[in-house]
Amino acid sequence: MKFDFLSNTDKNYFIRKASTLVEALPYIRKHNGKKIVIKYGGHAMIDKNLSKSFSRDICLLKEVGMYPIIVHGGGPQIGKMLKKKNINTSFVDGLRVTDKNTVKIVEKVLSNDINKKIVNDINDNGGKAKGLKGNKNNFIKATKIIIPNKNSDSKIEKILDLGFVGEPKKISISIINQTLKDGLIPVIAPLGTDEMGNTYNINADTVAGAIAKSIKASKLLLLTDVAGILNKNKKLIPSLSINQAKKIINKDFIVGGMKPKITNCIEAISSGVKEATILDGRIPHSVILELFTEDGIGTQIYS
Ligand code: ADP
Ligand code: MG
Repeated sequence: MKFDFLSNTDKNYFIRKASTLVEALPYIRKHNGKKIVIKYGGHAMIDKNLSKSFSRDICLLKEVGMYPIIVHGGGPQIGKMLKKKNINTSFVDGLRVTDKNTVKIVEKVLSNDINKKIVNDINDNGGKAKGLKGNKNNFIKATKIIIPNKNSDSKIEKILDLGFVGEPKKISISIINQTLKDGLIPVIAPLGTDEMGNTYNINADTVAGAIAKSIKASKLLLLTDVAGILNKNKKLIPSLSINQAKKIINKDFIVGGMKPKITNCIEAISSGVKEATILDGRIPHSVILELFTEDGIGTQIYS
C-alpha cells in the first residue's frame, strides 16, 4: 500500500526503516573501496537461514562499494564425511591430523561441496562470486607445520607429524586482485600446495589472516560460533589492544580453535590491517552489525 494511506503505526515503521538506511551513510563512506577479509565458518555456514542472510549481506557490501573477500572453513562438514567413510580422525592443538586419505576428503569437501555452495548462494542472491582453491594455479604455497612433541622424552619422537597440515608461505595476491578487478567476490578454499605439488589442509583463520595481511585489507572479520573472546568468567571481552591480546593468548581460558584466531588477528594488525574482529556468526547479519553500527559486535582487536 502507498505510504500516504498507511496507519500511523505503519508509517512510523517505514520511517524508522528509512532512518536506519540513512544512518548507514557514514559507515558506507568509511568502508567504501576497502578490502574486507571475512572468515566464514561454523554454525553460520550450516544453518540454512543464516547462510542465506550471510550471502545477502555480502552482496550488500559489494553493492555499496566494498571489496569483500571470503575465506571459508569446513571442519564440521569434513568431520561428518570422514565419519561416513569410517576414517578415524584426531586433533593436535586444534589442528586435524591429515594423512593421505584424509587430505583427499578434506580437498573434496572444501572445493567441491562447500566452496561451490557458497558461490552459488551468493550468485542466487544476485551477486557475482568466484571460487578460488588455494591448491590450484599456485595460489597458496604452503609449508608443512611442525609441532614439537612435548610429551616425548625420546630423541626420535621430538616432532609430531600431523601429515598434510600446512601454513601459508606465499600467497599469489595477483589472483585475488584480478578477481576483484573483474567485479567478482572471491570465495577461497583454505588449501595449499608444497613444492612437490602435494595438497595441504590449512586452518581457515590462518589463511584469512595471511590474505588480509598480504592484500593490505582494512579489516579482518572472523565469524565463529561464540560471542567473541570470552574471559575466564565466560563474559565477552568487547575490545583488546594488540598488547592486551598478546598477553591473553597464553591464559588457560583461551584454548582450541580460539588460539589461532587471536594469533592471526595479532599478526594481521602487526602487518598493517587496521582492525580485526572475532564475532558471532550465529547472529543474523552479524557482518552488517559489525561494519554499520558504532560499537560493532564481538571482540575487536586494534593496534
Ligand atoms: P570455528 O569454526 O569458528 O573456527 P573453532 O571451534 O575452531 O570454531 O573455534 C571457536 C571455539 O573456540 C569456540 O566454540 C570455543 O569453544 C573455543 N574457545 C576456546 N577458548 C575460548 C574463549 N576464551 N572464548 C571463546 N571461545 C573459546
Ligand atoms: Mg577453527
